[in-house]
Amino acid sequence: MCGTCSGDTAGNAPAAANPTTNNAPPSTSTNNSVYPAQGGPKSSPYQSIQDYLSNVNKFKIIESTLREGEQFANAFFDTETKIKIAKALPVSSPQSYEDCKTICKLGLKAKILTHVRCNMEDAKKAVECGVDGVDLVIGTSSFLREYSHGKSMAIIQETALKVIEYVKSQGVEVRFSSEDSFRSDLVDILHLYKACDKAGVDRVGVADTVGGATPRMVYDLIRTLRGVVSCDIETHFHDDTGCAVANAHSALEAGATHIDTSVLGIGERNGITPLGALMARMIVTAPDYVKSKYNLKSLKSLEELVADAVQINIPFNSPVTGYCAGIHAKAILANPSTYEIIDPHDFGLTRYISINSRITGWNAIKSRVEQLGLSMTDAQVKEVTAKIKQMADIRPLAIDDTDSIIRSYHLDLQEVAQG
Ligand SMILES: [Zn+2]
Repeated sequence: MCGTCSGDTAGNAPAAANPTTNNAPPSTSTNNSVYPAQGGPKSSPYQSIQDYLSNVNKFKIIESTLREGEQFANAFFDTETKIKIAKALPVSSPQSYEDCKTICKLGLKAKILTHVRCNMEDAKKAVECGVDGVDLVIGTSSFLREYSHGKSMAIIQETALKVIEYVKSQGVEVRFSSEDSFRSDLVDILHLYKACDKAGVDRVGVADTVGGATPRMVYDLIRTLRGVVSCDIETHFHDDTGCAVANAHSALEAGATHIDTSVLGIGERNGITPLGALMARMIVTAPDYVKSKYNLKSLKSLEELVADAVQINIPFNSPVTGYCAGIHAKAILANPSTYEIIDPHDFGLTRYISINSRITGWNAIKSRVEQLGLSMTDAQVKEVTAKIKQMADIRPLAIDDTDSIIRSYHLDLQEVAQG
């Protein structure tokens, strides 16, 4: 069972808000009134859809790699690994009470939140860890009510209000989330969220626990909820049907304030909205906001750290950090925005043009010749390109192969010249 999600999460499962935050104070308030004024993203080449409730220019991230991420099949984070990831994020961890306390004492530039079942015993334990916030969760769909905890909506509400009151009385931030929200009765959950809002909850959470929601369903539910509660709205999307990033964007457009992510999306089954993919999505939607708030250049090393910890490779199609060489060399070299919506330099990466294939064009080879510090006429570059294509027809070429063809051709030219 999944986390935001998990009614089964034992003990405390923290997550952190605002990972890789650039400039914001660690405990940036979740109160809407402190958000920067909203305006259309100036440097985005896309026309923004005007929507007065939209939060695409002022969203916040709840980083859940050490909470949701630990439900990933390969994940076993020992304390040392958690601390490493927490410092890199910063985020925090599940597994144990002690880890949670240790991470809280690191003094990271983020709020540390723990994720617990909505009952008094768990809430008390969470508060004892010294966290900044407690995320309460309970299943509200008929599936979960019948097959998981067996509680009625009336009992759920009564418990939720008592626990919220307790956590608030301890001066700790509190979020209440339903689990499997999209398969819950709409009237039931709106009623429940409204009561929690009235009781002073800081955030309510909506979770697509099974990953079946579409962007339109998300927009409708969040927009309706936005009209019912005045507190912040957190959202959690699983990626079973490949919609997790699109659903997150849709939620922000409808007025959600927070998105749950994990590094590389690791989590239950095929995981949740990946941090990197969300950054890629949002840098196109709201470039100024994203560049000013997040330390994008740490994304690659963060992904490598987590990939290593859970023993996976960064997928080739991972936005930004995946292998992304293209074949439209001429246009890319003349003006990268022709075929690229994201500038790799924003993420501390360099552009790589593929030059090892049978469809390599001479413009790409010319660029490589220049990179190698060699001098050739265009006619000569065309001739060596033909040689590279001939070889690529026979067998796959590595960059070293291409380079050595270029170098030996250049050497021949010099020998001819010296006569
Ligand atoms: Zn989850």
